Amino acid sequence: AKANGRNNFQFFTADLNARASERLQLEASMRMALHNDQFKLHYQPQVSLPDQQIVGAEALIRWQHPEHGLISPSRFIPIAEDSRMIVTLGTWVLQSAVRQAGRWQAAGLPPITIAVNLSPLQLHQPNLPEIVAEALADAGLDAQYLELEVTESVIMQEGEQVTMALHRLKKLGVRLSIDDFGTGYSSLSYLKRFAFDKLKVDQSFVRDLSTDPNDEAIVLAIIGLGKTLGMTVLAEGVETHEQLAFLERAGIDSVQGYLLSRPITAEAFEALITPGAYV
Ligand code: C2E
Ligand code: CA
Ligand code: CA
Ligand code: CA
Repeated sequence: AKANGRNNFQFFTADLNARASERLQLEASMRMALHNDQFKLHYQPQVSLPDQQIVGAEALIRWQHPEHGLISPSRFIPIAEDSRMIVTLGTWVLQSAVRQAGRWQAAGLPPITIAVNLSPLQLHQPNLPEIVAEALADAGLDAQYLELEVTESVIMQEGEQVTMALHRLKKLGVRLSIDDFGTGYSSLSYLKRFAFDKLKVDQSFVRDLSTDPNDEAIVLAIIGLGKTLGMTVLAEGVETHEQLAFLERAGIDSVQGYLLSRPITAEAFEALITPGAYV
């Protein structure tokens, strides 16, 4: 048994080392990738109901790797977070998204809100509000057109520091939204302490809307909660007409999901919001 245990231990460490070096490699290639313009933003439309106008876009990062093709953020964001590289990467996302929205507005396209995901570590950056303000100024974009998405778990996790950061961001005039709402096992008490503009109902509740009465009840409750507290409510991950119909009947403000559009390139998004252009 003892020999066996040692073997297992050796396997375990070998595996850990392999994973650690894989991570180190990935981290190094992420730094290179940023330098070599391999990161791209895709934009997923956010659509108001019932009029189905595109009112916003969520910027979602993609890694166009020269050998491995398009790499999904769920693969590299966690590693970027572990290595703190996310701070640099997140700043790049913020600046690029805000610049793109500024260009669309300057070109006379209908104004949309650009939503950017914020990582926990970014919220711990003492100068985040300055970075945001500078990005907006450089892009010539009014703060009201930027929405920062923060996950519920992040708001719950940390006390003072995060609360302070959120207050300072709010004072700039940017909008704040709670991402993945309903998955954070939260006490909801933070909703009282803090003025968020939008709730994003997590797609896990939307997925089974037509088959699970519990999910219907949860979504209705979230919409009621959000509205009562003066927030707008968006549902993520809308894939079917049934889901859309339910959400519209439930009085949701806006939706995002493959049914309306997948995340698309800047060029494709621009074509989508260009008046009179059919695509
Ligand atoms: P998220 O912020 O919850 O983003 C929504 C994810 O759901 C996106 O995946 C989007 O493509 C996907 N999605 C949208 N509509 C549908 C649908 O109808 N059905 C299904 N099944 N999925 C849908 P994506 O782009 O792969 O991003 C995954 C996660 O990676 C994001 O989840 C976010 O947590 C993270 N992420 C992406 N871009 C960034 C970024 O710039 N910064 C940070 N910190 N995280 C990012
Ligand atoms: Ca998000
Ligand atoms: Ca989400
Ligand atoms: Ca998510």
